[in-house]
Amino acid sequence: MIDCLIVGAGPAGSTMAKEMASRGFSVVVVEKRQEIGAPKRCAEGITKHGLKKLGIEIHPLGISGKIKGAMLYAPSGKKVVMEGTEMDGYVLERKVFEKDLASQAIKSGAKYMIKTQAIKMRKEGNSWVVSVNGIDGEQEIKTRIVIGADGVESKVGKWAGLKTANRITDYHSGIQFEMAGVNADEKYIHLFFGRDVAPLGYAWIFPKAFSANVGLGILEKAAKMRSYEYLKKFIKDHPEFFKEAQPIEINGGGVPVAHFTSMVSDGVMLVGDAAQLVNPIHGGGILRAMHSSIIASDVAEKALKEGNTSKERLMEYEKKWDEEYGEKTKKLMKLRRFLEKLEDKDFELLADMLEGEDIYELTQAKYRFLIKKLIRKPSLIGLAKKYLMD
Ligand SMILES: Cc1cc2nc3c(=O)[nH]c(=O)nc-3n(C[C@H](O)[C@H](O)[C@H](O)COP(=O)(O)OP(=O)(O)OC[C@H]3O[C@@H](n4cnc5c(N)ncnc54)[C@H](O)[C@@H]3O)c2cc1C
Repeated sequence: MIDCLIVGAGPAGSTMAKEMASRGFSVVVVEKRQEIGAPKRCAEGITKHGLKKLGIEIHPLGISGKIKGAMLYAPSGKKVVMEGTEMDGYVLERKVFEKDLASQAIKSGAKYMIKTQAIKMRKEGNSWVVSVNGIDGEQEIKTRIVIGADGVESKVGKWAGLKTANRITDYHSGIQFEMAGVNADEKYIHLFFGRDVAPLGYAWIFPKAFSANVGLGILEKAAKMRSYEYLKKFIKDHPEFFKEAQPIEINGGGVPVAHFTSMVSDGVMLVGDAAQLVNPIHGGGILRAMHSSIIASDVAEKALKEGNTSKERLMEYEKKWDEEYGEKTKKLMKLRRFLEKLEDKDFELLADMLEGEDIYELTQAKYRFLIKKLIRKPSLIGLAKKYLMD
């Protein structure tokens, strides 16, 4: 019998493992992949101030690029630059970053089982018995709490009886090459918008030490072809960046851009992508995944000490998350619905409006300044009223 079984050793799982083990609880992490952090399903961007806010320090080897801002490209190629201390950030080397997080958890006392997949779980009194299948064969682990840190394809929530199936329109389909030989200003991440570039999403270049992540996320219902075809087209359409470039890795994955599931059940907590916690505007989820685990640990600690791991007790985690992110996420969803309605010509107008503004604010749901500008544009006032002003 252990205190806490964590399914998945991504940023959410390893943060939870470190937090719980360092508070003296017995912790086991099962990770189905043979290597923690690989293959990555991520463009690896993260802000410095986000890390600082969470008190998370990363090993220098986990940092592959240093960024001072973002360049946004409208469909015509018009460029808007975003800079400022809040834009300072890193492009990580996730294969190292995630191993660093796991190593910190192990130093705190957590036990890791790699190439070991959780396959089912059943309730036994107030505990859970989780069946895992790994290189050492199948075994059962009895635990007081199960943490679902199993990412976008999470099964733990479903096994615990939670409704976790998101609407298909709330998943972005992401595809990416890591490429060598990309010719892009390495102090910036580069983001490209347009219906023909990445329908209802965006394309990106995130420069790294000697390569760059080049990818895009699209909403499939608005797409005329597969995301892979859009990526090839994007690369072909931009010889100024990719004339000499060659892929050295290919990655893909889904991004759950709308949080809707319940995050707890009796003896079960979902963290990170398993609870669909990414920022619905830019799809970034690493920081939110780690933050959810920090909040969840505070509640799990109290619940375990009190001997009450019921859903009602664990709901404090969901409540705290909502206090921190609920209102903001609702506003970001509105902004997303607004942006999804824009045609390419509207993106050009938007690029003009955003010039010289603190665009970072938009990703934090502070868009009053944008509304003031939109209501002066007859072609956009209707959309602004419908989606942003109620
Ligand atoms: C193309 C793309 C680009 C992205 N770019 C960015 C970015 O630049 N910045 C950013 O902040 N976010 C980005 N994201 C989102 C980010 O990758 C996720 O939000 C983040 O990884 C969530 O962390 P997590 O620990 O919740 O889940 P994950 O990192 O997905 O980890 C889940 C882990 O659980 C394991 N697992 C699953 N099921 C089981 C099982 N049954 N048993 C055992 N183990 C299991 C998986 O193998 C995996 O290791 C991107 C996502 C995609 C798809």
